[in-house]
Amino acid sequence: MSKEKVDVLVIGAGPSGVVSSAYLHNQGIKVKVVERQIFPRFVIGESLIPRCMDHFREVGLFDVLDQQGYQKKFGARFLKHGKVCEFDFSKKFTEGSSWTWQLPRAHMDNVLVEEIQRKGVDVSFETTVTNVEFNGTNSVTTVVDKEGNESQIEAKFVIDSSGYGRVLPRLLDLEQASDLDPRSSLFVHVEDINRPEGQEGWMITFDVLEQHVWFWVIPFSNGKTSLGFVASPEYFEKGGTKEEIFDELLKNSPYFYDRFKDAPKEFDPVLINAFSVGIKQLWGEGYALTGNSTEFLDPVFSSGVTFATESGLLAAKLAARQIKGENVDWQTEYTDYIMQGVETFKTYVKTWYTGELQDIFFVREENKEIKKQICSVLAGYVWDTNNQFVRNHKRAVSSLAKFIRSTYEDSNTAV
Ligand SMILES: Cc1cc2nc3c(=O)[nH]c(=O)nc-3n(C[C@H](O)[C@H](O)[C@H](O)COP(=O)(O)OP(=O)(O)OC[C@H]3O[C@@H](n4cnc5c(N)ncnc54)[C@H](O)[C@@H]3O)c2cc1C
Repeated sequence: MSKEKVDVLVIGAGPSGVVSSAYLHNQGIKVKVVERQIFPRFVIGESLIPRCMDHFREVGLFDVLDQQGYQKKFGARFLKHGKVCEFDFSKKFTEGSSWTWQLPRAHMDNVLVEEIQRKGVDVSFETTVTNVEFNGTNSVTTVVDKEGNESQIEAKFVIDSSGYGRVLPRLLDLEQASDLDPRSSLFVHVEDINRPEGQEGWMITFDVLEQHVWFWVIPFSNGKTSLGFVASPEYFEKGGTKEEIFDELLKNSPYFYDRFKDAPKEFDPVLINAFSVGIKQLWGEGYALTGNSTEFLDPVFSSGVTFATESGLLAAKLAARQIKGENVDWQTEYTDYIMQGVETFKTYVKTWYTGELQDIFFVREENKEIKKQICSVLAGYVWDTNNQFVRNHKRAVSSLAKFIRSTYEDSNTAV
């Protein structure tokens, strides 16, 4: 069996893995990426938030993305039964990027992986990790190529960026059920044949159909648009094909029905059941988990890619320091930091579905200062503890919702 030796092995070439490996390569660390699929490959997660732009810039991957002509995203619009709430990322509390992109992920992920290869990162496609044995911080990983040939990779550190592949969570028994209620999603790409001119045409929108049911509209610059419903798993248990269920659900969005009712679908709608996942720990001796191989919450605030790049970059920085002989306190410097962001977003996800956050979004009279702070959270700046909607996220959201409910009882009762 052939064997090779690297400093760091990265499992998975999604945004988390490419940001990790780009950073390590820039530091002169010998890194190898193994990816079980061949790119471009489909993956959902097409609306980015501004915080991830900082990560792409830091590792030298911003320019190549900027050259692609992706649809720029300057904020987000939420609709609920005729009410509108718009966030403008240029009006946020925390310094940082005020825009990002909405884009087809197969394209973006392929651009990123080609760029790291061009820079010299060793990437093996159609190479699946089947086992990892740890001996202290050193490890031997077994991979299988498309012909079924096994080989081994010795590494001083493993970064598991395998997304829903969740390689180390499965091998090391780290899986944990999410503490969020199970939710599913049915989505598709369409040819946006009735796209209106101007902002109405390209604006990303989340249409709240019922308190627990929402619909995303993410227009791309290539004339296609991503459409998806999110609800409890039972909501999708209707008779018929996925296409029939999708077409039926579309009728629940009067705002978008006419625009999309005849839009040709690019593929059969895809159903992902119970997408939220949890994890027992984020690191162990010789490894760190990043992106979707850690915890995935919910698509509602488009935080997935940003958590993937935030955790991928931080894990790479800490692994680089460890390889250079420094002591790293992984619990404080990695888990506590990442979980501060996860817990903040979790409050927003939970209160979205209880209706509290929807009451805040759709309140009749907005408070501009509060809106700026919530806008920072939605832009992904969930580590700025100067923001009370980050520092005291639970209390700030629930007190504000209570205040709104008591002040505007007539117009803001949850659906
Ligand atoms: C319905 C839905 C909608 C979403 N919408 C958004 C959104 O709008 N915005 C957003 O930011 N996020 C969104 N997300 C989340 C987003 O999809 C993920 O958070 C993001 O893709 C995670 O990136 P990653 O790099 O961790 O994993 P991935 O992008 O999934 O990459 C992991 C890679 O690892 C590879 N791999 C897996 N197993 C192995 C193995 N054994 N060996 C080798 N390689 C392996 C896979 O082939 C894959 O290429 C959404 C998620 C869902 C479920």
